[in-house]
Amino acid sequence: MLRQYELLDKVKSYDPDADEALINRAYVFSMKAHGSQKRASGDPYFSHPIEVAGILTDLHLDDETIVTAILHDTIEDTVATPEEIEKLFGKNVARLVDGVTKLSKIEAQSESERAAENLRKFLLAMSGDIRVLLVKLADRLHNMRTLHFIGNEEKRRRIAKETMDIYAPLAERIGMYEFMKEMQTLAFREIEPDAYESIGRRLEQLNTGDGDLIQRIQRGLKAHLEANGVDADVQGREKHPYSIWRKMAERHVSFEQLSDIMAFRCIVDSVEDCYRTLGLIHQRWPMVPGRFKDYISTPKRNGYCSLHTTVIHDENMRIEIQIRTRDMHARAEYGLAAHWAYKEGKTAAATQHPWITDLIEILEHAGSAEELLEHTRMAMYQDRIFAFTPKGELIQLPKGATPVDFAYAVHTDLGDQTVGAKINGRVMPLRTPLDNGDQVEILVSKAQHPQPAWLAFVVTGKARAKVRRFVKSKEREETISLGRKIFDEIVERLPMPLGWEALTEALKRLHLPDDEALMEAIAQKRISDTAVMEALMPGSTGKDGVKPPPQRSAISIKGLTPGVAFDLAECCHPVPGDRIVGLRREGIGIEVHTIDCENLASGLDADWVDLAWGDESDGGTARLSVVLKNEPGALAAIATIFGNHGANIVSMEQTSRDGSFHTFQLDIEVHDVQHLMRILAALRATDVVSTAERL
Ligand code: MN
Repeated sequence: MLRQYELLDKVKSYDPDADEALINRAYVFSMKAHGSQKRASGDPYFSHPIEVAGILTDLHLDDETIVTAILHDTIEDTVATPEEIEKLFGKNVARLVDGVTKLSKIEAQSESERAAENLRKFLLAMSGDIRVLLVKLADRLHNMRTLHFIGNEEKRRRIAKETMDIYAPLAERIGMYEFMKEMQTLAFREIEPDAYESIGRRLEQLNTGDGDLIQRIQRGLKAHLEANGVDADVQGREKHPYSIWRKMAERHVSFEQLSDIMAFRCIVDSVEDCYRTLGLIHQRWPMVPGRFKDYISTPKRNGYCSLHTTVIHDENMRIEIQIRTRDMHARAEYGLAAHWAYKEGKTAAATQHPWITDLIEILEHAGSAEELLEHTRMAMYQDRIFAFTPKGELIQLPKGATPVDFAYAVHTDLGDQTVGAKINGRVMPLRTPLDNGDQVEILVSKAQHPQPAWLAFVVTGKARAKVRRFVKSKEREETISLGRKIFDEIVERLPMPLGWEALTEALKRLHLPDDEALMEAIAQKRISDTAVMEALMPGSTGKDGVKPPPQRSAISIKGLTPGVAFDLAECCHPVPGDRIVGLRREGIGIEVHTIDCENLASGLDADWVDLAWGDESDGGTARLSVVLKNEPGALAAIATIFGNHGANIVSMEQTSRDGSFHTFQLDIEVHDVQHLMRILAALRATDVVSTAERL
């Protein structure tokens, strides 16, 4: 285990200004916090965070990152609190430790490839500060180095698989190529122990015999080029076992057939020399057809330039050779972006970590978190958020997405039946924007359906399209059924029962194709009650026998046990047609709320009851806010509208006066939502009304 002074010396060696006291304080704090906890290896637990810090000193990271590494498991595994960390080590370290702790909590199940990809993106997005991710990756690397101490095979395999699926690709993505290789090698050893061992044996055989094979081939290449007047810098390396195995698996070739065990690179002065070198190599060793690539005349999309070829070498062995100029080499090796994009051909010489220098530079000079992100690939994920289902499945959504978007992203049926949502265990309004890492539970009812009001806040195309389509088909259906209700009332008011041909005759007289068209016309008030009566029974409206409109039938609500007391909530004033949900309050009964009532959040401890209006439901009190122009007769004008629509005003109150406008709050009795909408539309169409809204 690294001792306190050794760790400090390491940091001081590359950063003489590092805060010594801070690191010492962290060392002692972590040692005390972890106390007598032990690792599977039998070492004191404390050795782990110190080794993680040691790994990060190899990358020359700043003192805050080193301190974060030392403290990274204290919140999760000891009694230490975030407040303590902040008090002792400052805001930055507290934020970084908090970030690592959060990342550790979501080491989730990576069942499918899709989930793994999501999780990688999520980890990137959650990291925010790239140092959080660096600590997390170093933590994982040390855990992989000590994996063999864990007795439980299943656990070892799970950790190894997770490393392979999530952490190695992440390391690769941010350019930590050495981390990636070591993680893959260690994970490969655990997941495919036999393959690992046999590849290791083969590599060993290659290098025994006549000494270091790579060295010999390298020298031979250089000598051949030199003899023909090309001065080339030739580098050679052996690929790591996992990448060899992957190629064997992908290409279905045996170890002997594999050309990718050894790779060589010739770096020359000019483009002409590149082609000359290629010619000289092909003259000396037969090329393997199909493996030659000219990325100089046609560079890769990321700007990568090189010649690639594979030849059959003297030892009856295929070797891969890349040829490029110094310029091309510098771009491929040292450009941060190029480093991310370019996967092959890394040599030990590249472990000078040019990218890390870049990264540290960015960390030091980036003015803000956004700027830092811009310099890293993380920027890609800043417009996304990631939320979990209760089962831990990750759902990727655009920023600003709400529980309704979430529900539709999971499944169309789930979206359609949404009545509410719990975010991190709390019931929240459906319009609440989700945050990264939220766990979202959708509350559903089969009796519910998509709601036009959702269009005001959903952000995903899928949710929007589904709601729109539903609303369209539903609108006509509902209009027709409303028309039927009104039609039945009209028939009731006729002085005599109707003959069975009456409706057909009426349709003819009204020039309507069928009864649905009639019902629609009635509901939309395109045709008056008296016109319908006249069409059904000519001359009937002139007679005394016409009955007044009938009493409204009582409210019925599906989902309630008969006899249970219920109240229509005063906050949202639901009326038939609104989507509703019930809160069961002890000793009080059921409170019926509209589904997007903001007071629902207060119903955390109440039971939720799925409710829907009964078919016969009629009547409710709606609360309106109407802004009137300050003109004589304005009030009379709206009173007439209410009268014409058969809506009773229950109460009216002036809530504000603002020069030329007066705002009124009115409670009116309406049949249902459609009735209310017609009244609102009529109000808005009136000159004296500035705005009319339902509250
Ligand atoms: Mn750890």
